[in-house]
Amino acid sequence: MTRAPALPGSAPVDCVVVGGGPVGLLTAVFLGQAGLQVSVVERWPQRYPAPRACTIDHEALRILQAAGLMADHADLFEPSQGERGGYEFRNGEGELLQAIDWNRAAESGWANTNGFYQPDLEATLEDLAVATPGVRIHRGWTFQALTQDHQGVTAALASTEQPTEIAQIRSRWLIGADGANSSVRSQLGIDVGDSGFEADWLVVDYQPLVEEKWSAFVTQYCDPAQPATAVNSGPGRRRFEFMRRADMAVEELGHDSTAWRLMAPWGVTPETARLERHAVYTFRGRWARAWRRGNAFLAGDAAHLMPPFLGQGLCAGLRDARALTWRLGMVHGGLATPAVLGTYGPERAGHVREIIDEAVAAGRVICELDVDRAAARDAEMKRLLRDPDAATREPPHPRLGEPSLTIASGGADGRLAPQGEVRMADRVGLFDDVVGGGWQLISRIGDPAVLLGDEDASWFRQIGGVVADVSGAGQVQDLDGAYERWCSGYGCEAFLARPDFYVFAAGLHADIPRFVSRLRQALQQDLADPQGNLEERHDDDAASAAKR
Ligand SMILES: Cc1cc2nc3c(=O)[nH]c(=O)nc-3n(C[C@H](O)[C@H](O)[C@H](O)COP(=O)(O)OP(=O)(O)OC[C@H]3O[C@@H](n4cnc5c(N)ncnc54)[C@H](O)[C@@H]3O)c2cc1C
Repeated sequence: MTRAPALPGSAPVDCVVVGGGPVGLLTAVFLGQAGLQVSVVERWPQRYPAPRACTIDHEALRILQAAGLMADHADLFEPSQGERGGYEFRNGEGELLQAIDWNRAAESGWANTNGFYQPDLEATLEDLAVATPGVRIHRGWTFQALTQDHQGVTAALASTEQPTEIAQIRSRWLIGADGANSSVRSQLGIDVGDSGFEADWLVVDYQPLVEEKWSAFVTQYCDPAQPATAVNSGPGRRRFEFMRRADMAVEELGHDSTAWRLMAPWGVTPETARLERHAVYTFRGRWARAWRRGNAFLAGDAAHLMPPFLGQGLCAGLRDARALTWRLGMVHGGLATPAVLGTYGPERAGHVREIIDEAVAAGRVICELDVDRAAARDAEMKRLLRDPDAATREPPHPRLGEPSLTIASGGADGRLAPQGEVRMADRVGLFDDVVGGGWQLISRIGDPAVLLGDEDASWFRQIGGVVADVSGAGQVQDLDGAYERWCSGYGCEAFLARPDFYVFAAGLHADIPRFVSRLRQALQQDLADPQGNLEERHDDDAASAAKR
């Protein structure tokens, strides 16, 4: 490996990101914005063309807002709407079985769920990455192997078109965002857990040529004769998904004629729609048993895979990007010790595992092909539906896994922090844009700055922290009551949120100095392993030990 020449045009960098999919690109953008030199190594010269993600949640949009993407590109996303929360499960007779409230008011300041077109998002992310100082994208290179020493990582690459042309690249850190069949994960010897769920589905994207009327944003047709999904997939687009039944070969599922035949019962025909693209996928629920070895990390589908029934795979990957990059940025800038990297995997593993389990459970409901079991399922779901409390379910919003970089705060710690619309001086908008993203110390009682000593206040500013008094008497007005509502819900007066929008600490206004001093300790702790290279293992038990 040492004999290979350096990747053309690339000196050693702070971080190599393997994979130029949405997670790799966003990771590179955040690292570049934090001042790191980053090289993205992507196997293919062009972006992936097949249909994949089409819904994205409020938290993911806040993450994209932090990258600077929402200021000019909010029109890529179309908020969920429709009856009964926007997301319905129906049986073969069309009767309602369950509804999920995708139209709820969400914590992050954006609509809870939004339709979008993944190729448009990827193109925008790539433009942003190219424009970010310090980021270089090397398309057409395939990651092959890596070696690690105490100073960093050396990655061996081969030209995808001319595999005999080899190169290497050296970095302090490497992130494997190389998708479900991650070579980085294999190279690191990281094992994968499996839910045992597996189903082949045809995914068809089309553009309606006539106006279509749908009562819901997404409908799951839990029909044992033909399980199907109808979904809004962004402005001007629709999608159908159909499960493969045992009497149909995978090849047949992939024909245009099959797509048209399966869509015909809904009146979607060559006269009413233009078929854009289709692909067959095997939906699975899997998770990496560790997210890190030494200075190499996993993110996105490389770390977790889930059936798309809750629209959460990409959202989880964007959370990984944010969670990992604020840590690497702080370590790179000398603002935190490498020990802070040790909580990345456990936090993300516990969080995403809960979502994988829910997506797999939804899949088992939707994919039931046995007529008798489907009838029993329908009866039970209809019985639950008569219970008004169970009528519209909440989408999943888990807590961070453990150990987490939080302090016990009566249940708010490790939960998603709010973002509301605020006014400061003559500016009105979302808090992160008007006051600032990053570390946020917010009180609904008074000015947090008054309680902080000079040294802590100056340290907090140095790490990019902002403080806000949203009591009404301070400079920041809580225009839509988001902070009042959230604090009342958790019975707290003040909170300190992290750059990934999870709560580090919450409690009384008077606790504020303690929040900051504990954060300082946590970021500056010098563990026995000063590189923070603690070996991580997450088995099933560890993941489910996440605090609920
Ligand atoms: C049908 C379907 C519907 C979905 N719907 C939703 C949804 O509604 N909402 C949602 O949030 N998620 C959804 N998802 C999931 C979402 O699409 C994925 O989670 C997301 O695309 C993963 O992004 P990624 O960047 O981690 O991986 P990828 O997009 O797979 O990118 C990995 C990149 O790494 C590159 N690569 C791989 N190996 C190498 C190598 N050795 N060297 C160099 N480069 C390499 C690949 O070429 C690729 O570009 C859906 C998925 C499917 C299949």
